[in-house]
Amino acid sequence: MKTVATKNAQILAIDAGGTMTDTFIIDENGDFVVGKAQSTPEDESVGLLNSARDALTYWNTTVEEEFPKLLAGVYSGTAMLNRLVSRKGRRVGLIVNKGMEDFHRMGRAIQAYLGYSYSDRLHLNTHRYDPPLVPRELTRGVTERVDLFGNVVIPLYEHEVAPVVEDLLERDVEAIVISLLHSYKYPAHERKVRDIVKETMKRLGKEVPVFASVDYYPVRKESHRTNTTIIEAYAADPSRETLQKIDSRLKDHGSKFDLRVMASHGGTISTQANELARTLVSGPIGGVIGAKYLGEKLGIPNIACSDIGGTSFDMALITQGDLSINTSPDMARLVLSLPLVAMDTVGAGAGSYVRIDPNFKSLTLGPDSAGSRVGVCYPEGGVETVTVSDCHVVLGLINPDNFLGGEVKLYPERAYEAVKKQVAEPLGLSVEDAAYGVIDLLESQLRNYLESMILGKGYSPSQYVCFSYGGGGPLHTAGYTKGLGFEDVLVPAWAAGFSAFGCGAADFEYRYDKTLDINVNDGARDEVKFKAGKELQGAWDELMEKVAAEFEKNQFKRKDVDFRLYFRMQYQGQLNDLEIEAPIASFKGLDDWDALVTAFDDTYTRVYAKAARSPELGYSITGAIVRGIVEVAKPRIPEEPLSSETPPKEAFLGMRNVYWKGEWIVADIWEMEKLKPGNKINSFAILESPATTFVIPPGFETFLDQHRIFHLKEL
Ligand code: AMP
Repeated sequence: MKTVATKNAQILAIDAGGTMTDTFIIDENGDFVVGKAQSTPEDESVGLLNSARDALTYWNTTVEEEFPKLLAGVYSGTAMLNRLVSRKGRRVGLIVNKGMEDFHRMGRAIQAYLGYSYSDRLHLNTHRYDPPLVPRELTRGVTERVDLFGNVVIPLYEHEVAPVVEDLLERDVEAIVISLLHSYKYPAHERKVRDIVKETMKRLGKEVPVFASVDYYPVRKESHRTNTTIIEAYAADPSRETLQKIDSRLKDHGSKFDLRVMASHGGTISTQANELARTLVSGPIGGVIGAKYLGEKLGIPNIACSDIGGTSFDMALITQGDLSINTSPDMARLVLSLPLVAMDTVGAGAGSYVRIDPNFKSLTLGPDSAGSRVGVCYPEGGVETVTVSDCHVVLGLINPDNFLGGEVKLYPERAYEAVKKQVAEPLGLSVEDAAYGVIDLLESQLRNYLESMILGKGYSPSQYVCFSYGGGGPLHTAGYTKGLGFEDVLVPAWAAGFSAFGCGAADFEYRYDKTLDINVNDGARDEVKFKAGKELQGAWDELMEKVAAEFEKNQFKRKDVDFRLYFRMQYQGQLNDLEIEAPIASFKGLDDWDALVTAFDDTYTRVYAKAARSPELGYSITGAIVRGIVEVAKPRIPEEPLSSETPPKEAFLGMRNVYWKGEWIVADIWEMEKLKPGNKINSFAILESPATTFVIPPGFETFLDQHRIFHLKEL
């Protein structure tokens, strides 16, 4: 990091994790510094300010000096997710259809085995139900019924609502959620219940927040919709207070921007946003958005993102500059209906536990991990089971005196003893071979995951550039990309802070979805197609209103917003629909219908196969989507002149013995920050940085380009 007296900090991106709070501060030239501090869950602003102070010491400046100059600040963190997972949210009352009071805790059955390995999914005796977010005794039914076409079959028994509210309030609920069957098709009943709930509370003089699912997530699948609306009441609304407190603490230190939060759809939203549950998962999304942004700047349209942290390996694909979005994802073992950047996650990270299967005497990795407690090599963590990190230390891949820049001291002899006892002796191997076997197994597993994710989507690695990041990514980049034939493999020098960088690069963006059910048969008359298009346009108009209303909260006018229209379509009767950007600005006539259908047919051909196209079945429009984007300041990608291929002497830290493929070999150790653009390293080397380690094994070479991005090449 450079040490300069005057800087103009412009963007502050925060990744408040369970143990560490990372800050990423970017100046007007795209230079950036990364700060780390212990997280302070009781008041996150303390850890955040400490972390920002730590970052700014690299520029010899202070929070008081720089905060007033900041143009934007983006937060991502795990506080809301923790509230949910540890079931520490509000006491919520739930109103559903009479007779349906148990569906929430049944969790569509699938929730009992979400997150399980394939073998555990098959064995019913391992399935486990988590406590429901709303217990059965706080769930009440009211009589009404709307069928799947949106017809009222039984009218709403309005007189049943007030007694239910009185009863729930007597039980001290802190919020009330209403979710009725098929309300996305016929919202009037749910809205009526909502109004009666509010009137009753007023009459009783005891008011708590009310959440009707149609006001938040007007989409199909009642378990998903109900869970998501409950999270809004249970965890998101209470977190709003926390976020606004952080915002005001930043303002106390001179900041003038309104804090934004990274959301699951890949954009950032205001702390005042209606649907705040979208910020439940933010860290890993940041990395994908960072890769997309970097790809746009560098002209790379197809990217395979790979992120290794302490606990997991996260993969995502960016194809032709676009992310794919999953609209019914699961998180924290709950099925949800909010748009989430599609990612594949496996529980294999640098902190994963290593065990010997007692039956097969084979190595198993994860899926649980020591996370921030590193491994046996870190006595303060209190971990007793060997982790992947212990193997890194035994092999000499990680410098035990430079973990988090030396803040966390690791003890190689502890790692050695543990690997010996728990892995090497049971397998009859030397300690080094056992540790090497663990790394080899991890990398071959990751390679298989990555390859199958790409092949499974109908693409090939040769069409993609692989981006590798996260603190643990560069340790294994060579291992998990070997032989896959990627077009290129990139490791940004700021790999360890890449997720926070992505948060800083994310657009200010709202996205709203609405379920539609519009069917147009093969050979339908023109009037039918016209009516279908008009209905889609009606949904877009409604969603544009919602987006505009959100931006207004931050004083942005409609004209400032770049609206993008999308639709979901499928061949009638098929199971999967596709999300497609509309090739039209608005629906005006039959030509527009043809354009929509052609865009769908083309995408379908790309994703599946031309032969699978089935226009004879007719088309269904299953959803309307509107994204609204407002331009905000973003980080600039570093740009430095290229120097010679030979690295500068001052970057050389010495040599270290590293165990590699059955023998100890001497590796050159370089300080990553001191390498210059243009430098090439083509011998066995390890590049060290305060929060990441990049391994260049024999048979590979790396080149640092003018953007401070390493290119890894297999020789
Ligand atoms: P992340 O969760 O993305 O910060 O990644 C954490 C992982 O980075 C750790 O589990 C380590 O295996 C890996 N790592 C590699 N080099 C370092 C380093 N110098 N300091 C801390 N972590 C490192």
